[in-house]
Amino acid sequence: MHADVLVVGTGIAGLSYAVRLAESSPKVKICMISKRDLLESNTKYAQGGIAVVSNFFLDSYEDHVQDTMKASGNTSNKTVVDFVVREGPARVKELMAWGAQFDTKGSKLHLGKEGGHSAKRIVHHKDQSGLQIQNALIAKARSLQNITFFENHSLVDLITDHHIPNTKQGRCYGAYVISKRDEEIVKITAQLTVLSTGGAGQVYAHTTNPTAATGDGLGAAYRAKVHIENLHFVQFHPTALFPKIDGNTFLISEAIRGAGAVLRNFKGEAFMTQYDTRKDLAPRDIVSRAIHSEMKKSNQAHVYLDATHIDIKILEQEFPTILTNCHKAGIDIIKDFIPVLPAAHYICGGIDVDEHGQSNLQGLYAIGECSHTGLHGANRLASNSLLEALVFASRAAKHSAVKLADEILSTSFFERIPNWSGTEDISNQKTVQIHELRASLQRIMSAHVGIVKSGESLQKAEEELHKVYVATKELYQQNKLTPQLTTLRNLVSVAYLMIKQSQKYPQNKGVYFNEDYV
Ligand SMILES: Cc1cc2nc3c(=O)[nH]c(=O)nc-3n(C[C@H](O)[C@H](O)[C@H](O)COP(=O)(O)OP(=O)(O)OC[C@H]3O[C@@H](n4cnc5c(N)ncnc54)[C@H](O)[C@@H]3O)c2cc1C
Repeated sequence: MHADVLVVGTGIAGLSYAVRLAESSPKVKICMISKRDLLESNTKYAQGGIAVVSNFFLDSYEDHVQDTMKASGNTSNKTVVDFVVREGPARVKELMAWGAQFDTKGSKLHLGKEGGHSAKRIVHHKDQSGLQIQNALIAKARSLQNITFFENHSLVDLITDHHIPNTKQGRCYGAYVISKRDEEIVKITAQLTVLSTGGAGQVYAHTTNPTAATGDGLGAAYRAKVHIENLHFVQFHPTALFPKIDGNTFLISEAIRGAGAVLRNFKGEAFMTQYDTRKDLAPRDIVSRAIHSEMKKSNQAHVYLDATHIDIKILEQEFPTILTNCHKAGIDIIKDFIPVLPAAHYICGGIDVDEHGQSNLQGLYAIGECSHTGLHGANRLASNSLLEALVFASRAAKHSAVKLADEILSTSFFERIPNWSGTEDISNQKTVQIHELRASLQRIMSAHVGIVKSGESLQKAEEELHKVYVATKELYQQNKLTPQLTTLRNLVSVAYLMIKQSQKYPQNKGVYFNEDYV
């Protein structure tokens, strides 16, 4: 199979890239693959919304830039922050023109407030912003003739010089991809390849990310020797619902703290007053560490979030999903405190890219959560990630259009790329083993590479992960590749990079906290 552009991932980043490029260049053939169906993604679960300056009487670009820099402890790249914040409003307008609907108050957008923001600037659709965006983008992308979709197809490896005899161009030429249904590996060659594979929260036992968020783009990029930065900056969301629902950890958006909900410890004390002057709306790293400390003090597995004093109408209108999911877990938030704990939420680092989303491997872009653009530095400001995805997708799409007009590899070159060659079948026993190895890896990362780390805990994590690595490598060398095995391989790579980059980081900044440095 051949396309002009192969886009791996159909969240906000991949879809908005494809829509933009397909509309501006109708002759360009775009192929999109997604690991599950088109909808399943981190984007689908985003509740809060998109941080963007829209009320210029009460807010300004300078304030949004300053809030972003402050949240990151001044480690964000100021040039990147500047252009992302300034290009944001146009990107949100474009998203609305493509069909996304956001809540309004009168003729203006209704704006929410979240931790670390000095003004109300979160454009949202109730507490289902991501679902609204994702559905609108899918409908828009489906309406464009030059985009083709392959759902339930998973990236195995990027095609690079390494796969083609006598080739040394330092380029990416597409990807090998495995289908879920028949587990066949096919090659999809492309002039340009875009990784928009999202997050890697599944490296941890408790995460707000769905099961498909396993850092596959990062794993494939690592094997292709692409630069990956800042994986030690893992943002933990302070308030995930303690009881899992159908095995998944459900996020309680901080918008509900914006509406007045208060964190309480087991004694019922509103403890955030002891940790930060911004109390419950302090940045996530501060709130997560405060909860971690309260959990340790009380020797309990969670703290509480108290929303009982918020007007029922507000809860019903603005937080219907939270109400429903808490109800499923047997909690009536109108009269009960909500048991919450921090969970791995967002990877601030990723594939290192320039201002157009280009990686160091020619022909390979990375956009959205799998990329490292410099916007977040050591800590992401709430609701800046959907914004980043939109801005960089648009920039990458513009850049791709120029590249495609300039640099075209010949059809005969692509014909030289070999098919994937594999080994025998995998037994059921091995499938169980893959599942167990994945669970061990998650336990190792949660126990030793969580909110609070130390030299000793990182060392322990490295040693224990090595055993998982050896077992995974054996499986990989002796068995036919399956989607589960490629995923495990990627989780191991991402966990390894997180540990190694943590060990090299010499100070406490943003979300990174090592108790040896206190
Ligand atoms: C519960 C939750 C709430 C959030 N709330 C907010 C918020 O309010 N505001 C905000 O700004 N951010 C929020 N975030 C973060 C934000 O949602 C994500 O950073 C953003 O949606 C990432 O978009 P993306 O397009 O990069 O990746 P995703 O939306 O995760 O999409 C990734 C895509 O890649 C595909 N994929 C993955 N691996 C493979 C593979 N091997 N082969 C093929 N395809 C693959 C997936 O199938 C999917 O289509 C939230 C995140 C979560 C989990």
